[in-house]
Amino acid sequence: MSLHPHPLFLLNKSSPDPSQLMVLVRIAAKLYEAMGMKRSTRSRSESMSKSRHDHVDGGCRGGESIAIDQNYISWLKEHPSALSSFHHMINASKGKQIVVFLDYDGTLSPIVSDPERAFMSDEMRAAVHDVSNCFPTAIISGRSLKKVFDFVKLNEVYYSGSHGMETMGPPPKNKSYDSKYHQRSFDNEGNEVIIFQPALDFLPAVRKISSELTERMKNIQGVMIEDNKFCLSVHYRHVKDEDYGRVEEEVQLMLVNNPDFHMTRGNKVLEIRPSIQWNKGDALKYLLDTLGFQNSHDVFPIYIGDDRTDEDAFKVLRERGGYPIIVSSTPRETMALHSLRNPLEVQSFLVRLSRWGFDSPTTSHPQ
Ligand SMILES: [Mg+2]
Repeated sequence: MSLHPHPLFLLNKSSPDPSQLMVLVRIAAKLYEAMGMKRSTRSRSESMSKSRHDHVDGGCRGGESIAIDQNYISWLKEHPSALSSFHHMINASKGKQIVVFLDYDGTLSPIVSDPERAFMSDEMRAAVHDVSNCFPTAIISGRSLKKVFDFVKLNEVYYSGSHGMETMGPPPKNKSYDSKYHQRSFDNEGNEVIIFQPALDFLPAVRKISSELTERMKNIQGVMIEDNKFCLSVHYRHVKDEDYGRVEEEVQLMLVNNPDFHMTRGNKVLEIRPSIQWNKGDALKYLLDTLGFQNSHDVFPIYIGDDRTDEDAFKVLRERGGYPIIVSSTPRETMALHSLRNPLEVQSFLVRLSRWGFDSPTTSHPQ
């Protein structure tokens, strides 16, 4: 399957063309079919009312254009919408404890050009809050633990930062984790928590690379080095095309001088990370263990994310019989089994999940 979408056309609400509209109607019908939806027999006003209350539609909001292409329709058949499959998911979770894992950027917040301003909306915060009141909930992000907490600001949620290299959770019951990397602390409500930092030995080297890289890149306009404690994110979204080569050269030079580190690529970002066998999937397993859900027969983990680094968590969920959901509006190769198009659909999904949780108190799990 091609990873590059080939939009048949873009249709803007403000400039409808009758011939394009007919094509759109036919394609939309196929799209609904692929999403497992029947054609609605409700009146338009009923549909709009339901949409306002039940479902946040990610498309055609405020003049936003909607792109529909055949590749996406085919991909959607393989990765059905988690909204249209909601009842199937609930049936699959019967008798098990739902545990919710969420990425942050691009999942709970929109991708923005300034990474310091990737704020989540109040509505999304309320949705995460409500879900965390029903089910154990954790956010696993590439940001530092402190930064992701400062964005989310919810005490009821567990956090894992630096791609899982800094995880805050209850004291672990499983003795297989090296206590040397456990730091005892207290959360904002005075509860004892443990911060697990499996890459702690690398911290002095990360600090050194950070200061050297900042010095060496100070003359490259537009580059931004984000310190995420155990990994460094070099954002080049605002760097001129002709200067990009210098950015990558400097990063590569750091890797030559620090062979215990490696580079990964993201959306307009290069990341320098310690080369340890630990990723978001490991952080997910660690949190399940510390939360008391070692037995995969008793737990139904849901993970929602949009990054390449989330694939490690999707892989774990496929092995454990969980529910991996990718956030994407274009076809992508992924280990996820289900999809949501954007953070607005994530919000809809979380709202629906918490409503179900509140209505089914025997299956929810207040913390
Ligand atoms: Mg993300």
